[in-house]
Amino acid sequence: MKSVKGTRDLLPRDTYLFQQLEQGALVHFARYGFREIRTPIFEETQLFLRGIGDETDIVSKEMYSFEDKGGRSITLRPELTAAVCRAVIQHQLVGPTDIVKLMYMGPMFRYERPQAGRYRQFYQLGVEVFGSDDPLIDVETIEALMSFIQPYGLPNLELIVNSVGDSTDRPAYLAYLREALDDVRDQLCNDCQTRMVRNVLRVLDCKNENCQSLFGELRPISDFLSHENRQHFEAVCNGLSQLGIPYRLNPKLVRGLDYYTKTAFELVSGDLGAQSAVMGGGRYDNLVQTLGGPATPAFGWAMGLDRMASLLAARGMEEKGPDLFLVFGERSWLDQALPWIVKLRHQGLEVTYDLRVGSFKSQMKRANRENARWTGIIGTAEWANGTVSMKHMATSEQTTLARENVAKFIEEQHA
Ligand code: ATP
Ligand code: MG
Repeated sequence: MKSVKGTRDLLPRDTYLFQQLEQGALVHFARYGFREIRTPIFEETQLFLRGIGDETDIVSKEMYSFEDKGGRSITLRPELTAAVCRAVIQHQLVGPTDIVKLMYMGPMFRYERPQAGRYRQFYQLGVEVFGSDDPLIDVETIEALMSFIQPYGLPNLELIVNSVGDSTDRPAYLAYLREALDDVRDQLCNDCQTRMVRNVLRVLDCKNENCQSLFGELRPISDFLSHENRQHFEAVCNGLSQLGIPYRLNPKLVRGLDYYTKTAFELVSGDLGAQSAVMGGGRYDNLVQTLGGPATPAFGWAMGLDRMASLLAARGMEEKGPDLFLVFGERSWLDQALPWIVKLRHQGLEVTYDLRVGSFKSQMKRANRENARWTGIIGTAEWANGTVSMKHMATSEQTTLARENVAKFIEEQHA
């Protein structure tokens, strides 16, 4: 038996990278006031139909929906913003003057064609800010993202921003698009022809090259923005510049979900091939209300952890080896040394050994393979006088210590 098509096992070399990101995120985003929320893996299908928009790829093609034994229509969550809004409404988390910051991480499910960087179960880490339409929130929340990934030193990442307007100005742009595209309707792909009727903004997101070449002459949405929305977008751009965050304007960026208003943005990598988006997000001032809650402007983004992890792996980030690998002259010494080994672990060290206790050479080889920081060699002389010869694997420097001083020694060396 194998894992189901489009799903995969995350092995320790993978989970190590995921843990780096997840643990780092909890610490980093707490500084901005974000607290974690965990919502169910599945929700009523209706939530995503209403929240995401039924002409989006997610809802029209990608949802894992089924009827449960009680006859309810259930969907495995394809994204979390709608579900977090549902929770915010259900628990009345946001009062009229509150700002609430939530973060989440976990698996999402979309029935997509599996390929590199695209899975049917994948992982996202995301943040949502509820309760303000101030552009400062957009700026601050994008900054939190950029400073989160900055320490990983990933090259070729580009922040792309746009404003998609809202119900005050977008209809005029949609009308323009429909008219402008009418002349080339026959040359558009089938999907775009459907989109033209049902959700024309989505055509700009088409991956078909021929379609994209036909869009070259279209006027950008920025020509149509209301004074207020234009001001909001300028404030966001100015705020990013003030913080020294480089970005590129792309007036064709529309994102794959219908709920966005005003700011929309993506982070794309030049190192991921066709699946280049590492994360996406923006403002969604109407979603809480659409889902039955009070008018609550909001802003958020979601990062694809699978793609982030593969970028980290490509940069050579890998699991560290144990602090100490013990090498013994005789198997029986290992049995006798067990209480000491256990104590080292209780003192906080990661300690391993080769249970078969073969030749010194084979044990040293294994210590190398496991990438141990230190090897502690216990030969005949060391065994007799209660010492360990500590070899620092990176420098090959060696010192002999009393066994009870090992934990303190390693701690001092790495302080
Ligand atoms: P794409 O254009 O790659 O389909 P999207 O617009 O559908 O992305 P979002 O819904 O905004 O993506 O999700 C945010 C991030 O989640 C993406 O930027 C990507 O890194 C990740 N992601 C989305 N779908 C998948 C998937 N099927 N497998 C792996 N990661 C994914
Ligand atoms: Mg997608």
